[in-house]
Amino acid sequence: MSRFLNRKYEDLEPYVPGEQPQDQKYLKLNTNESPFPPAQTARKKAAEAAENLNLYSDPDCRILAQKLAERLSEDSGLRLTADNVIITNGSDEVLNFAFMTFCGGDKPAVFPDITYGFYPVFADMNGVPYREIPLDEEFRIDPADYAGAGGTIFIANPNAHTGIALRRAQIEEILTRNPEDLVVVDEAYVDFGAESSLPLLEKYDNLLVIQTFSKSRSLAGGRLGFGVGPKEIITDLQTIRYSTNPYNVNAMTMAAGVGVLEEEEYTRGNCGTIIVNRRYTEERLCAMGFELTDSSANFVFMKYPGVDGGRIYEEMKKRGVLIRHFTKERMAQYNRVTIGSREQMDEFLKVLGEVIEELK
Ligand code: PMP
Repeated sequence: MSRFLNRKYEDLEPYVPGEQPQDQKYLKLNTNESPFPPAQTARKKAAEAAENLNLYSDPDCRILAQKLAERLSEDSGLRLTADNVIITNGSDEVLNFAFMTFCGGDKPAVFPDITYGFYPVFADMNGVPYREIPLDEEFRIDPADYAGAGGTIFIANPNAHTGIALRRAQIEEILTRNPEDLVVVDEAYVDFGAESSLPLLEKYDNLLVIQTFSKSRSLAGGRLGFGVGPKEIITDLQTIRYSTNPYNVNAMTMAAGVGVLEEEEYTRGNCGTIIVNRRYTEERLCAMGFELTDSSANFVFMKYPGVDGGRIYEEMKKRGVLIRHFTKERMAQYNRVTIGSREQMDEFLKVLGEVIEELK
């Protein structure tokens, strides 16, 4: 720490992203990336955009926002326009904007005790008090626990790191029980088998839905995310974005995003493959004696009774397979494993079988 650091950041504990090792080649199942390359049109459009990198990107992301609004309208049956959409540098950025814009003062943030680890960091970073509501014994969110929560609510649906999804009706219950508070639904993993809350925007003005191009749309390295909500909520977020970094999305990524939307079939096909591979992996893990949560995401959350999750993580890493281990008390027995291609999962299962034989 330098002597120049603003005192308010003295105790800030930064978010620890999943490992991205560059030293050797791992079978990488630790950060929920897609095993499939970006859509061809996305790559082509990004390369074309590179020709004009001497110019700033469009701060309004007009073409992409328009296309996205059209696509989301088709999916949800709503009539959304570009004014209902904010586009950001990954969904982490719009999440941070949501903490900056809608929390603080007498508005704490409220979220589950086990969820995306960035939420408490965003809260701390922005000087926002927060309240964590424990998941139940089976790692489920009970919407009744959020009745009159008294703050801005953040729900990852499906939840990180359990993969367990709430039904749309359960999100609706949270919305109706908190009419004076904003409910932010983080749908990073929604395309792998959960119900989106987007259709609820027709009835509720206290909903902000956040999605990303990083998982189902194979663009994690491009950094592209977005928020969808009532115009007034998006306008508030845009004020913060313009006050922070109007050119937050680079021109190549913006073009790639348009390309992704032009190949919707490719995205849908890849999601279908991941869902099939998840079931395949789950069956084999259960046969090996693992216990799993009921995941609707592109990962599984697994434990082996009597064997420490950290040990499994370490032994897998030694053998060139990266999975994600969290040390937080309630999760210490568990590991989170990204679902990749069938070949990747077969390799993972083979190595895991050897590790379990050794450790059990
Ligand atoms: N929300 C959740 C629940 C996540 O797991 C992640 C990925 N780490 C994100 C948001 C952020 O993803 P990105 O910034 O790549 O869009």
